[in-house]
Amino acid sequence: MPNSKCFDYIIIGNGLAGFQLALSLAESSFFKDKQIALIDKSSKTKNDKTWSFWEKENGKWDDIVSKSWNEALFFSSKKQLTLKLKPYIYKTIHALDFYSKAKQVLDKKNNFHFIIDEVTSIEDKAQLIVKTKENHYSAQHVFDSRITEDYFSELNKYTKIIQHFKGWIIETETPVFNPKQFTMMDYRLKDGQQTTFTYVLPLSKTKALVEFTYFTKAIVDEETYDSFIKKYITETLKISDYTIIETESGNIPMTNFPFENYSTKNITKIGTAGGWVKGSTGYSYKHTENKVTKIIENLKQNKQVSKGLFKQKYKFYDKIFLKVLHDENEKGEWIFEKFYAENTVESKFRFLDEESSLLEELKIMKSLFSIAFIKAFFKTL
Ligand SMILES: Cc1cc2nc3c(=O)[nH]c(=O)nc-3n(C[C@H](O)[C@H](O)[C@H](O)COP(=O)(O)OP(=O)(O)OC[C@H]3O[C@@H](n4cnc5c(N)ncnc54)[C@H](O)[C@@H]3O)c2cc1C
Repeated sequence: MPNSKCFDYIIIGNGLAGFQLALSLAESSFFKDKQIALIDKSSKTKNDKTWSFWEKENGKWDDIVSKSWNEALFFSSKKQLTLKLKPYIYKTIHALDFYSKAKQVLDKKNNFHFIIDEVTSIEDKAQLIVKTKENHYSAQHVFDSRITEDYFSELNKYTKIIQHFKGWIIETETPVFNPKQFTMMDYRLKDGQQTTFTYVLPLSKTKALVEFTYFTKAIVDEETYDSFIKKYITETLKISDYTIIETESGNIPMTNFPFENYSTKNITKIGTAGGWVKGSTGYSYKHTENKVTKIIENLKQNKQVSKGLFKQKYKFYDKIFLKVLHDENEKGEWIFEKFYAENTVESKFRFLDEESSLLEELKIMKSLFSIAFIKAFFKTL
């Protein structure tokens, strides 16, 4: 750490957003003279999640991708779809590989400074001060991955459901999985009429992540997730002999809470705290990459750092979708069946990546046209 505690940029949080941002700053010679502090309360030595995302062919993270697929399966109680993903590839990264890569790259740069501490507050008066449990630091600009307290206290003003899940990585003695196809959603096993499905990532012929997921208003207890995972493995996959080698669980907000409004001229909220997790899907890996690219562009052009990070029409689409799932949660299976069955892979992924044309959006809306969406549209207006 330099002697002074003054930095050009402070990044709070070495998670997906903080490290992707730091890596992009490190890549560009434009920032080589900037002193950048990375403050996190954790040293990021645990594999706390698995990130999956789709992208066209080769990408920036291929050296740490642990598995990729060209085909996906979708099951509703009435239909089975095999989705050929070309030109897209679905890829998976172990979070620990990502953290290790980031630390390895940034450790070699003498303008990046790791600080293990917990940030308690930020003061934005004459000077921008980041207060931690142990110290105070000043900066020209702060990138903050802490979720605002307002999210917890004001949430009842917004539409909110939770994507919550638990997964087991299981291993079998004999080959039982097809590692060429993963299951995006399987609605054949559900918890009542709620939007619940199983997600399966076969990592090899003998190893897979099997995750039971809810898009609902409230979380459930551990035993409930466990009993559904177990039931799916024995009754749907018809596997009786297996070992659980790892577990993963998560709780991702699916909401129209305006996280982006918490960015200011000097403080940019990033990651989940900045609204970078797509409200309708819970995915954020590629959105993070795109938003980081925009931030770097803004910094280079001396523009407001958080300018142009969002396209309002997609916020509106997400809001309607969330309203339907919130008010008529049993419709999830029908919505996703229509979405996957009646649209091309390109238009689906372009829509979810917020890169679609108006024509593609109209086709998607037509495939989902129903009383539920009309009601949600008017309620959202
Ligand atoms: C289990 C799980 C699986 C997921 N899978 C996928 C997926 O497959 N694909 C996808 O696109 N998205 C996925 N997501 C959603 C999203 O991509 C992740 O949540 C992602 O990690 C969000 O990035 P982030 O940087 O906002 O937060 P995080 O990665 O959680 O990072 C936040 C960092 O801030 C630090 N921090 C917090 N408070 C303080 C403080 N006060 N002081 C100092 N440091 C602090 C934390 O220690 C942490 O390191 C998943 C989420 C979860 C929970």
